[in-house]
Amino acid sequence: MSDLRVVPGPLDKWRCGTCGAIRRRDTDGMTNLFETNYDLYAHEPGRVEEVRRQGGYAQWLASMLGAPASCFEAGSGNGSLLLALAEHWPHAAMRGVEPADGAAAAARHAGLEVTTGYLRERESGAATAELAIAVNVIEHTAAPLDFLRALASHGDRVAIVCPDGSLPNSEVLFGDHLHSLHPEHVAALFAAAGLQVERAERAPRELGYFQIVVGTRGSPPAEHDAWPSTDDTASYLAAWRSLDDTLMERIGDTDVIAFGAGEAAGLLRAYAPLAWSRVSACAVDAPDVDHFGELAVVDARGLEPSAMLLAVRPAVQATLEAKLGPLGHRVVRWDDVIPR
Ligand SMILES: [Zn+2]
Repeated sequence: MSDLRVVPGPLDKWRCGTCGAIRRRDTDGMTNLFETNYDLYAHEPGRVEEVRRQGGYAQWLASMLGAPASCFEAGSGNGSLLLALAEHWPHAAMRGVEPADGAAAAARHAGLEVTTGYLRERESGAATAELAIAVNVIEHTAAPLDFLRALASHGDRVAIVCPDGSLPNSEVLFGDHLHSLHPEHVAALFAAAGLQVERAERAPRELGYFQIVVGTRGSPPAEHDAWPSTDDTASYLAAWRSLDDTLMERIGDTDVIAFGAGEAAGLLRAYAPLAWSRVSACAVDAPDVDHFGELAVVDARGLEPSAMLLAVRPAVQATLEAKLGPLGHRVVRWDDVIPR
C-alpha cells in the first residue's frame, strides 16, 4: 500500500491489450482504505521530509499554473500541499476535501478549510474555485473518469498530477494504485470529461516519475494520439520478483543496517522479505522519526562501519555509496537490477 503497509495477496495488475493502461482487476476492499486505516497524512503538517517534498510539488505547480484567486484540492491529506502552495499564492483562498478523518482534522487544525469526505460533484449553488487540483489521487480511484468529472465541477481550470506510467517505475508496485496511466490515457480522460488539455508535461526528475495535465472546459479535440504501443512493465515487475534472491547473495551470512526509512524501504520490506528479515535497524541522517515498522531508526552519522543495505531509490544509490563507502561501510546496492 502507498502508506507502506504490507498486505499479503496478489498484486493483481492487468494491462489493457488495446490501450496499454494498467488497472488492478479486483478493486473490492480498496474503496474504504482511505477512510480508516490509511495513515500516511494523519499527523500535523510540518515533518521535514514532507515539507521538502510538498515544497517541490508546490514550486512545480506554481511555475506551471500561475496564481489563482482560489484553489480547491481533492485529497488534500493534512493540508501540507495547500500550505506549501500558499507560500507561492499568498492571496489565494484555499480549501479541500479529504476522506481520511485524521488527516482532514490535522488540516483543519493547521487553519485550512478542509472537509472530511470523498470528492463529489459540486452541489448547485456552491461556489467554484478558479483552480481545482488533485495530486496523486486519481491513480487510487476505481473510476478515474467519474473522479475527473467531479473535480471539474469544482473548478474552471483543472490540474491532475499522477504517476507517469510510461516509464515503468515503483508506482506499479502499490496495490492501492488501481490505475497506472500514460500521458495519452490522462489526455483521453480529459477529452471524455469535456476538458481541453492546455498543458501536459512530465515532472522534474528530482520529484520522481510523475506527470501533470492541465485543462479547461472547452471543446476538446475529437481525435487523440495513438495509444502507446510498447510497455516494459512486465520486465520491470520480473526484476522486482528476482530482487530478493539477488539481495540475499549480496548480503551474505550477516545482518545489515538498512540505509533509508521511506518508500524504498517499504518496497524492500514488501517485495524482498528474506533480505528484509536480515535488517537489524534503519539508519538515516538526522532522523525525525524513531521507528520504521518494528525497526528502530538510528542516526547514520554515528554508526561504526557496518554492512549496509541501501533502502533508497535506485537513482541515488551510486551517490550514496560514494558517501558511505569511504566511511568504511560495506554497501549493498541493487540499482543494476532495478534501474528506476
Ligand atoms: Zn484500454
